[in-house]
Amino acid sequence: MYDVIIIGSGPAGLTAGIYTARADLKTLIIAGTKWGGQLQLTTLIENFPGFPTGIQGPELMSNMRKQAEHFGAEVVDVDFSKGNFSAPPAGGPFKITAGGKEYESRAIIIATGADPKWLGVPGEKELIGHGVSTCAPCDAFFFKGKSVIVVGGGNSAMEEALTLTKFANKVTVVHRRDKLRATQVQLIDECKKNPKISFLLNTEVVEVLGDTSVKGVKIKDTKTNKISEIPIDGIFVAVGRTPNSKVFQAVPAGRQGIDVDQLGYVKVFDHLKTNIEGVFVAGDVSDNYYQQAIVAAGCGGMAALEVLNWLEDRK
Ligand code: NAP
Repeated sequence: MYDVIIIGSGPAGLTAGIYTARADLKTLIIAGTKWGGQLQLTTLIENFPGFPTGIQGPELMSNMRKQAEHFGAEVVDVDFSKGNFSAPPAGGPFKITAGGKEYESRAIIIATGADPKWLGVPGEKELIGHGVSTCAPCDAFFFKGKSVIVVGGGNSAMEEALTLTKFANKVTVVHRRDKLRATQVQLIDECKKNPKISFLLNTEVVEVLGDTSVKGVKIKDTKTNKISEIPIDGIFVAVGRTPNSKVFQAVPAGRQGIDVDQLGYVKVFDHLKTNIEGVFVAGDVSDNYYQQAIVAAGCGGMAALEVLNWLEDRK
């Protein structure tokens, strides 16, 4: 029987694990077969405090994992498959199945993060971290004086474009329709007024060009189907995110599940509680707003402290 099972091993899950293990709670982290979350896909991270000249994403995650293990957290590289989220309010036990094995715990922290949606076009995956990004606040700095595009027509795309103008010389928003999906009028106005931003509508990116770094994109006019190429240094994909919450929802109907909002983000109640007593949540799986590693890590620490208090109250 574990005191706490943490599902997820990004900054939220591993920080939670550092806190709970260090507080002497018997801690299991179900890390997933692809452990470490989104930062495993990035290169240099310059805005995570404590690293004056930055740190590579995978190195940061590896350090966090080692730190959690150092304090006694057990980490298993398997995927969560199901859990009984109908434990009695007295504190479990929750039964979790992961990697074909069953584990029991008194409390749970869900920290499974969110995955950026990608375009799925040739060249995109290969150049992630080499000109292809999904995070302007993280990577805009690398595009000082350069020319970049943002793909998408939602509020995120508008925010990414504005962030990029602080560094890039030219920012083109490439959107597949003639009408933006973004609803924040002020954001759209700011973009339209910004001399560095231009819009390329009715346009799809069909290929990212470049060998070791992005050199351009192949685009298609959706009205005429005409294909052309534009030279650029970076592409920011802002076509939405998918919170990794499906496995916790009440499917099939009748099973008790974790409440999510209409976009699939786990609903947060008072003090990082979910709708189920004893199940807490941290990080991007419940955050459709900040979506930053440092925020997720902070939330992981908070969720761990909430678990400590919750278990203490039930002693
Ligand atoms: P979103 O609103 O779902 O917009 C995604 C955009 O990407 C849409 O314009 C969509 O085109 C486009 N798209 C999707 N798949 C594509 C593909 N394969 N190829 C090309 N384009 C594709 O996502 P979001 O902008 O990330 O926003 C998510 C939520 O957070 C929204 O509710 C948004 O309002 C909210 N948000 C709010 C703020 C704010 O209030 N300041 C900031 C950021 C996000 P179509 O339009 O053709 O479908």
